[in-house]
Order: sequence, then structure tokens, then C-alpha cells
Amino acid sequence: MEKGCLDRGQTLIVDLDGVVWIGRKPIEENVIALRSLISRGYRVLFLTNNSTRSRTQYVRMLRDLGIIVGIDSVITSGYLAASWLYEQKGASEVYIVGEEGLIEEAVLAHHRVLTGEEAVRSTAVLVGLDRNLTYQKLRAAARALLNGSLFIATNTDHVIPVEDGLDPGAGAIIAALEATTGRKPDFVAGKPNPWIIDLVEKRLGIPRQNLVIIGDRVDTDMKLAMDTGVRGILVLTGLTGEDVISKAIGLERLSVTGITIMRTLKDLVDRC
Ligand SMILES: [Mg+2]
Repeated sequence: MEKGCLDRGQTLIVDLDGVVWIGRKPIEENVIALRSLISRGYRVLFLTNNSTRSRTQYVRMLRDLGIIVGIDSVITSGYLAASWLYEQKGASEVYIVGEEGLIEEAVLAHHRVLTGEEAVRSTAVLVGLDRNLTYQKLRAAARALLNGSLFIATNTDHVIPVEDGLDPGAGAIIAALEATTGRKPDFVAGKPNPWIIDLVEKRLGIPRQNLVIIGDRVDTDMKLAMDTGVRGILVLTGLTGEDVISKAIGLERLSVTGITIMRTLKDLVDRC
């Protein structure tokens, strides 16, 4: 294998925020590269810690960019959280701090979504990014957690990159609940939980040696790659810029861990 190139039959697990788009703005070079890789026969899965949209909504957004994949090729942290709860407890009553995408995935996984007043009798509280967060929601979730509900986080990313800077992520909301209840999440469903790779192997029948993880974050995307022995490609189109790499992380350290750094996914297409 040439350095940075892909083997035939490899499946790419591609992050969305910071790779396909930033906020609502597509990252053109990466989008063109992904279309090219799909047309060359590579299987591309999308894996995002962003639970605000459902898998169906992401399929539509990707289709609008000319990236044609089915719902089985999209994995969100909302889907992961709802799936994990179903595996552990079966169909459950849940209280959700999160947006439409998380609610939709919970319902698709056969859970019943409770309202604020009912939260206290929930089996689990699912917490993801909620841009309509209110004190009432935090209060209902905290009461449920203090009453012993399972604390399931979609992810703990403290910030998310948007067009004009950084916004608070799900991790900021989880931190508020941790401060209120003195509890830590019982399960964090999204990246970098190595459980995701087990799930991909089991549900999609793709062995991990055939996977490549592509993302813009060291603490989630590349940590998942390093912890599971999957090859990782860090692209510098999102949260991690070249300045961060050279100052804080060090190119040497990443290269010894089997991570390849590319400015954009065009580099990957050009090398293959
Ligand atoms: Mg990202």
C-alpha cells in the first residue's frame, strides 16, 4: 500500500461536521473527493457525534450534495444511544434533552419518549446537543437522574465548529447535569467509544482491518481509530488546524500512532 492510499475493498467511516460541512456550509474539496471515492467503488459510512438530526435527515442532506448513500450507511450518536439502551433494557421509557434527530432515533428504537412532568419515572435520560435547551428541561432531566434513571450521553464534545467560530456542544449540557446531580454518564454512545467499531463489525459484517476512520478531531475521531487499531486519517478542514497539530499534539506523536494527516480529502484521491 502506498503511503496515504487506500486498499481495494476498504470501507471509509467519515465524520460529518468539519469534514463534509461546517455549520451549513459544505466543504467543497472534501465533498468532491467523497463523490469520487464512492464512484470508484469504495463503501463510505458516515459517523457523527451530532445527534440533532436523524439518519434519514442526514441521508437527505448528503443527497443534496450529490453524495448518495442509504440509511444503513449513516450512524449518528443518537442512533447509537437509542440502540445501546434497547440492547441493555429493551423498549424503555426515556426523557430526552436533545433535538428532533435524537427523539426520532429513540422512537425508531421502540422507546417511549416522556414529557417533562413524567421524566422522573423514566428508565433513562438521553442527553445530546439541544439548541432549544431550557432551564425546565435541565430540571426535569436532573430530577430523573437524581431518581436513578440511567444517564446516557450521545457524546461529550464540549464545542462544535460552526461557520463563524465555536458553539457549545452536548458536553456543555452534560457538564451542567453532572454539576447538578454529582453523576457522570453511565454510557457515552458516540465517538470515541470503541463499542461503535464492534457494532459496525457485527451489524454490517465489515471486519475492522478493512475500515478507515476519517475525521477532523483528535480527541474523538482519531482516538477511536487509535483505541480500536483502525487506520485513521485526520483532515485539517474542521476543528484541528495545522497550528494545533504542530503546537499541541506534535506531528511525530500522531505519525507513530498510525494516523495520517491530510489537508483535505483531495490528498487521498490524488494519492490513489
Ligand atoms: Mg467533526
